[in-house]
Amino acid sequence: MSGTPLTVTPILVRQDNYIWMLPTLPRAMAAVDPGEADPVIAFLVERGMQLSHILITHHHTDHIGGVEVLRQRYPGCIVVGSAADVHRLPTLDQAVIDGDTVGIGDLRVQVIATPGHTLGHVVYHVADAIFTGDTLFSCGCGRLFEGSAAQMWHSLQRLMALSETCRIFPGHEYTLLNLGFLLELEPENQAILAWLELAQGLIRQGKPTLPVSLAHEKKINPFLRCHLPAMAQKVGLPDQPAEVVFARLREMRNRM
Ligand SMILES: [Zn+2]
Repeated sequence: MSGTPLTVTPILVRQDNYIWMLPTLPRAMAAVDPGEADPVIAFLVERGMQLSHILITHHHTDHIGGVEVLRQRYPGCIVVGSAADVHRLPTLDQAVIDGDTVGIGDLRVQVIATPGHTLGHVVYHVADAIFTGDTLFSCGCGRLFEGSAAQMWHSLQRLMALSETCRIFPGHEYTLLNLGFLLELEPENQAILAWLELAQGLIRQGKPTLPVSLAHEKKINPFLRCHLPAMAQKVGLPDQPAEVVFARLREMRNRM
């Protein structure tokens, strides 16, 4: 479901980690994957805002490192995360599973389980925004630390089924890094070359390359094109199923 565009503001920490901030209630905001607390507190204090919710995509420290301190600072804050990972996440106020909806004021936050990077990974779909954590990046996808290639491909397909006008807000600024791989794979792809130029310009200006639209990623992200014969051909696996093509692509990216 996509409605009015959501105003989302990034806080960049640890070189390439994004904490995404979104307005929720009057004078309150939510933080997605606060890997650190201090920059979030400074952000909220500067704007005279409270923290209403923390949305956690998965258990890795660079996504949850700030949760406990933020909870102490904002005792009313509701921490939301995957029920599958309660044993390795900070204490959750709301443990969610695939298909759940978290209501925050007028917002409806839809939970989509995306196992692959980790088994308990979830993404959050709010209005026209998808907070993809380490499942989907611009020009890339997360490493398979726990799940199988087939699981991750299935997870990506779930995201691909959402409205193409959706904007993707990943957990990391990996665009240029990923573009290096894409250029090796498809040096002649004009859409990739155009995105490279634009993304380099944004980084030079100290701006994020994100969000990107789902339509944009479907055009250039090879991990979202594993079902296409041209991609199977490119990785030397013609006529193979998409998850096999995906597995090969992921291996190639790991070796880079
Ligand atoms: Zn991770």
